[in-house]
Amino acid sequence: MNERILVVEDEKSIAKILKIELEYEGYEVIAANDGRTGFQLALEGNFDLILLDVMLPELNGMEVLRKIRKENDMIPIILLTARNMTMDKVAGLDLGANDYITKPFEMEELLARVRSSLRQSAVSTSALKAEEEILTIKDIMVNPQTREVERGGKPISLTPKEFDFLVYLLANKNRIVTRDNIINNVWGYEYIGETNVIDVYIRHLRKKLEEDFSDSQIIHTVRGVGYIIKES
Ligand code: CA
Repeated sequence: MNERILVVEDEKSIAKILKIELEYEGYEVIAANDGRTGFQLALEGNFDLILLDVMLPELNGMEVLRKIRKENDMIPIILLTARNMTMDKVAGLDLGANDYITKPFEMEELLARVRSSLRQSAVSTSALKAEEEILTIKDIMVNPQTREVERGGKPISLTPKEFDFLVYLLANKNRIVTRDNIINNVWGYEYIGETNVIDVYIRHLRKKLEEDFSDSQIIHTVRGVGYIIKES
């Protein structure tokens, strides 16, 4: 089934070109040209992603964002902000927007951001489902409910963040997760530090989990992309 995108934009020419381009990419697109209608559709329309202009009649984009997030904290929302409105970007991310794009934008960049947000949302949805089960790899067992980790029946002590990181990797077992995926899903959008924090955590996790697997690893580096956890 096609992914459904809600476009909330009052400038008719922009709404129109977005609809044409997104439909060309194979998405199903519904457009709203004021904030109130956008908010109502967001709640009722079963969308996979929302493109939300900030300057809107009836209800501005920030209000729409805040109201949507009260009801739904999963759906990816990309803000369309005016150039130089740094406050909007920061406030928007604080209110739970996943990304923003500055007007005027290049269509290719917007389409890339849409694809990336949809991908991340698919990864975190599957991570959420996996959290209900016991996760295993080799002789390692992880219980997301009790936050216990065992290897060969012996408990392993992880810090809370190491634990979250391991659960995220295991929830995506046999699938590459990018450094962006990791930062967004394990550290969250508030994180604006160095991304080499990931390397530090990987090193600690390997030391705690892999030290006597000799040459076989479970956490594999995919150079220039990210990491994958798998049996060998
Ligand atoms: Ca506008």
